[in-house]
Amino acid sequence: MKIGFFGGTFNPIHYGHLRVAEEVREAFLLDKIIFIPAGIPPLKKYDIVEAMHRLKMTELAVKDNPFFEVSDFEAKQKKPSYTINTLTHLKRLYQKDTLFFIMGIDAFLELKSWYRYEELLRMVDFIIMSRPGFDNLQNYEFIEDEEAENCFKIKNSDKRAFFISVSPFWISSTQIRKMIQNEKSIRYLVPEEVRKYIEDNKLYRE
Ligand code: ATP
Repeated sequence: MKIGFFGGTFNPIHYGHLRVAEEVREAFLLDKIIFIPAGIPPLKKYDIVEAMHRLKMTELAVKDNPFFEVSDFEAKQKKPSYTINTLTHLKRLYQKDTLFFIMGIDAFLELKSWYRYEELLRMVDFIIMSRPGFDNLQNYEFIEDEEAENCFKIKNSDKRAFFISVSPFWISSTQIRKMIQNEKSIRYLVPEEVRKYIEDNKLYRE
């Protein structure tokens, strides 16, 4: 099977995440995408609701898509969750499968600040999605020349980064949190069940 891992804070998950994941699944003929809400993220410190809330919202958001699953591996950990540990665990679990780590280009451009990022770049192939306001992969320091259209070899690694231009969604979790604080409607930016969950649990109000 071809499996994509999609890590994120998902604070909260929104239609941008869901739609770009669906486009990646179709374009790369993935059999499934596993969403992995982060536990206590080592890098994003502020404004984060409990992992269990983010896990639940992610589950609600993907439940009608037979190709989407959610992993609680990071969310249930007590310590900060590092992607390298998660990938080590998942590679063991899916030994026979072809694996990809999916991320937006904004996240990939920040990869240098990630724990043991050089090893991370040697672990799996990456699928890098475009995001409005961010550059493309050309001339990026971890990347060698384009081998084929939108396929780049990663430096000091036998792995590749595949770039995909997905539909541009300006929406971000930060923007959604701000809208809630300002008592604005977030209808149609997140799935309705996620919106209700946020409302019922009074999340992101301050
Ligand atoms: P925040 O505003 O809190 O930083 P976010 O909207 O960027 O959140 P994350 O949970 O941090 O969401 O993102 C998880 C992954 O999804 C990252 O790899 C990010 O690049 C990607 N992503 C999020 N929104 C989009 C989008 N609109 N288009 C493409 N990729 C996206």
